[in-house]
Amino acid sequence: MAQHFVMLGPPGAGKGTQAKILSEKMGIPHISSGDLFRENLREKTDLGKLAEGYINRGELVPDDVTIRMVQERISRSDCQAGVLLDGFPRTVYQAEALDEILRDQKNTQVDAVPCIIVADDVLVERLSGRRSCQNGHVFHVKFNPPKVDGICDVDGTELYQREDDTVETVSRRIRVYLDQTQPLIDYYRQKGVLVEIDGAQAIDAVSEALFAAIAKM
Ligand code: ADP
Ligand code: ADP
Repeated sequence: MAQHFVMLGPPGAGKGTQAKILSEKMGIPHISSGDLFRENLREKTDLGKLAEGYINRGELVPDDVTIRMVQERISRSDCQAGVLLDGFPRTVYQAEALDEILRDQKNTQVDAVPCIIVADDVLVERLSGRRSCQNGHVFHVKFNPPKVDGICDVDGTELYQREDDTVETVSRRIRVYLDQTQPLIDYYRQKGVLVEIDGAQAIDAVSEALFAAIAKM
């Protein structure tokens, strides 16, 4: 069965939510480039300082630093058996770099790319109600509320609204997705690894469709 996954889909489609579920089920690490950047932001590392402006404007962080950050994470021992990438790659250049990294470091390749499809108006609703904790657990005020208002079910930390989840930045991020990331759908379709998943269903139903699709790969 497939072990090296790339989750594709626009911001707010549910990539992170599904990646967490799949990661637990399959026992392979969920690596979110957005979470890695936010960790660097919180710790005020040089990378965090560089990335902050891009993230808050809803633009992509430059390819070279992004690729280096993810490459370092993938090279750790917990990724030996497989990885579930979420938010990376986001440009064709990054996708080509990932192919090279997997080939050179692990003699392997991306073997399944679930692409979660959701209409734009739904994305805006999902992102504006998203609440996150500092460890990357994600809830929604309406569609997936925490048991206690404002508190993460998993680790008890406070939930916050991401600065880039405002209506204005969200529309910029969706445009950036259409422009720079959507071409990856064709990139992976041509490689025969793309699976399209209808994301306009409840979280559990999306998971079921996802498991069924990748079980065949
Ligand atoms: P992405 O990682 O693609 O940006 P997230 O997984 O963070 O998306 O989900 C965006 C928001 O939508 C979160 O608040 C999440 O709880 C909610 N969400 C995710 N999947 C669904 C779904 N199938 N139905 C309703 N809300 C969802
Ligand atoms: P979402 O889950 O809503 O799609 P992410 O958490 O994946 O958002 O990303 C948040 C921000 O981090 C992006 O808008 C971008 O600025 C930056 N980022 C994350 N991943 C990448 C990447 N692969 N390339 C460039 N920038 C990235």
